[in-house]
Amino acid sequence: MNSKNHSSILVIYTGGTIGMIKDQHSGVLKPFNFDNIYEQLPALKLIDTKIENYCFNPVIDSSDMNPAHWQKLAQVILDHYESYDGFVVLHGSDTMAYTASALSFMFENLNKPVIFTGSQLPLGMIRTDGRENFITSIEIAAATDDDTPIVPEVAIYFENQLMRANRTIKYNAEHFEAFRSPNYPLLAEIGVYIKYRHNYIKNPNFKKLRVKSGLDNNVAVLKIFPGMSEHYVSAVLSTKNLKALVLETYGSGNASTENWFINTLKRSISNGLIILNVTQCQGGGVEMEKYQTGMALKEIGVLSGYDITTEAAVTKLMHILGNNSLPEEIKTKLLTNIRGEITLK
Ligand code: ASP
Repeated sequence: MNSKNHSSILVIYTGGTIGMIKDQHSGVLKPFNFDNIYEQLPALKLIDTKIENYCFNPVIDSSDMNPAHWQKLAQVILDHYESYDGFVVLHGSDTMAYTASALSFMFENLNKPVIFTGSQLPLGMIRTDGRENFITSIEIAAATDDDTPIVPEVAIYFENQLMRANRTIKYNAEHFEAFRSPNYPLLAEIGVYIKYRHNYIKNPNFKKLRVKSGLDNNVAVLKIFPGMSEHYVSAVLSTKNLKALVLETYGSGNASTENWFINTLKRSISNGLIILNVTQCQGGGVEMEKYQTGMALKEIGVLSGYDITTEAAVTKLMHILGNNSLPEEIKTKLLTNIRGEITLK
């Protein structure tokens, strides 16, 4: 296992905390000039990799990211796919799990690493976590085994953990360890060594990359809570053009069995709405057969999201709706593990 000689990595800076430094005169945070990357991070010279960069203009705080930005990012990677061995995407941490999940679905036959990273403190600050996150992401994106990339998938690297992108959630707003992958093992653990867990990393298939760029944002998320009103549920379900709903339920996929609730969902399903059941819990998944309160949902045609995260559920739905039109095909794809985002027992 080693880093291939003279590999080349494209760093794509989309925005976010990691790319900020303090202006020496005014003290305000401003985006970092990636053309001076080796001056800012001299340690990069020690990695036997050529690093080039592509900067979004303007750079975007990730709270402002939307599907059009995901399409642009996918296009940038597609345009440069043959010229680089891997990609490091610098992105704000707030919606990184959404962008990275979306890209994992959009890329079919991805055979090169696309490693997302960011930081809680800007690169230009003394205690920044960005320096280590950045340098290690480059190492991971460049790592090969017999000239084959070790991580040929979309992943997030943050604070010593490499995670499958569509399994991640941002779970902490201030710890350096900001991300977790509650339902899928780490792809690599990073300490003195980078220990790749090959069994959990997708295998390359050597087919040609295809980007399925369709994304349909006619989806909604409904988080249930005790005491929710009928008005609230009806308002969400009557959203104009709504095609699919991610229903965030309790525990293993349970919800109120009150008549008004079940009947409202049932009516929407018979009008063609797709409802995907995901758990509000951070770990574990949906098993609607376990309790009567889950069974009631299954009986009216709510689909199981298994152990998918809300981030992956939203982006998977946008992706499937954006590229398919037949209801049965949409449902079948939803229940299929397409990029390692769900665990089917
Ligand atoms: N608000 C920032 C963003 O997500 C936070 C960060 O970069 O971590 O763009």
